[in-house]
Amino acid sequence: NEAIENGVNFYDNINVIGPIVNEKTQTIIGVKLDNSKNIKAKLIVDCSGYEGVIRSNIPFETDFDKNIRREDTYITYREIRKKLPSVSDSHEIVIIGKNHGLSWVSFQQDNYVDFLGAYTNLLSVDISPKEMVYKLIEKYKDKCGTKIVKGGYSASIPMRRALDSCVADGLLIIGDAACQVDPSTGSGVATSLYAAHIASNVALNALNIDSTKKEDLWPYNVEYHHSEYNQEYSSNDIAVKNFHNLSEEEIEYVFANDIIDLRRFGGSGSNATIIKKEKYRPKISIRSKILAHLAKFAETDGKIEEMKELCREYPENYNPETFKTWRGKMNNCYVVRYDLDKPFESELVIS
Ligand SMILES: Cc1cc2nc3c(=O)[nH]c(=O)nc-3n(C[C@H](O)[C@H](O)[C@H](O)COP(=O)(O)OP(=O)(O)OC[C@H]3O[C@@H](n4cnc5c(N)ncnc54)[C@H](O)[C@@H]3O)c2cc1C
Repeated sequence: NEAIENGVNFYDNINVIGPIVNEKTQTIIGVKLDNSKNIKAKLIVDCSGYEGVIRSNIPFETDFDKNIRREDTYITYREIRKKLPSVSDSHEIVIIGKNHGLSWVSFQQDNYVDFLGAYTNLLSVDISPKEMVYKLIEKYKDKCGTKIVKGGYSASIPMRRALDSCVADGLLIIGDAACQVDPSTGSGVATSLYAAHIASNVALNALNIDSTKKEDLWPYNVEYHHSEYNQEYSSNDIAVKNFHNLSEEEIEYVFANDIIDLRRFGGSGSNATIIKKEKYRPKISIRSKILAHLAKFAETDGKIEEMKELCREYPENYNPETFKTWRGKMNNCYVVRYDLDKPFESELVIS
């Protein structure tokens, strides 16, 4: 209502099919709609989620990846059901690595049981994320109701660090369209809102000075890339991808030798972490959630700090040469050993 009072027009049931561009100046000047109408504007914001309908249809070279590699995406299925009144469980089981992805069953919410199945959108895995979830539901059917109360659909999500740049002349990219997610979980609600807040201030300023050129939108890049969120999530990307490539024996080694120090995230006193180990299937009980802590693993080769440092060094102003150098360093840092022939399955029991 506040937006409408301030002059915002909302158009419902509109499908954008791509940008309108000025090829000569390489500027985004509007959007094409599927009803063959066009909307022109001084500034376009691509917040179309995973598809990035503007980002992926720009016909000229950009400072960001227009297409997201399939190995940087997950296909997911999530379903939330009622927790049966007799059930007092409040823990969560996260199965990592299975089908190069993750699945969970969580009893952490008071009245609900949350099931997720997800894996890297690269392989022809012979089970769908939905089937993964239904196997879990079958296992826990005596603890949950039969009806879906939330979710119940499949979707693709980005699982990588944010785009190197989230701007072009006349364009801001926000949220999943800019891969502003935590690559260890796919969560992107908080970061999307955070980015939107930064972007709105930058957009206002750009419109006030009547210039939506890349240089004038750049402060959005700077503030987002320097942020703690981005530093953490960029390094999680390396950590998680490296982690997915470990064999079961390597996982065993990593846990046994505390290379991933889950204990520092656990509780204290009587709630201190218990680490139980079974052959090739480590079971770990910790108090805090967050697979992001697996980032500790990648610290072994210094990549985590290097990645964070690079985020902090994000160029303050747009200069094609400086940015190219920074991007080159980022891509060098980001070489990930990605061996999809090594599936494994490990189970974290989080209470
Ligand atoms: C199953 C599942 C569970 C998740 N659970 C969590 C969670 O618990 N916590 C969390 O933080 N994150 C979660 N996420 C991720 C989270 O949903 C996203 O990170 C977040 O919604 C991104 O917000 P967004 O606005 O960028 O994109 P979206 O929420 O995807 O919004 C994009 C919008 O653009 C519209 N759109 C797309 N294409 C077009 C087009 N061509 N024309 C016009 N409109 C278009 C869409 O209809 C949609 O309304 C989950 C994702 C999935 C798939």
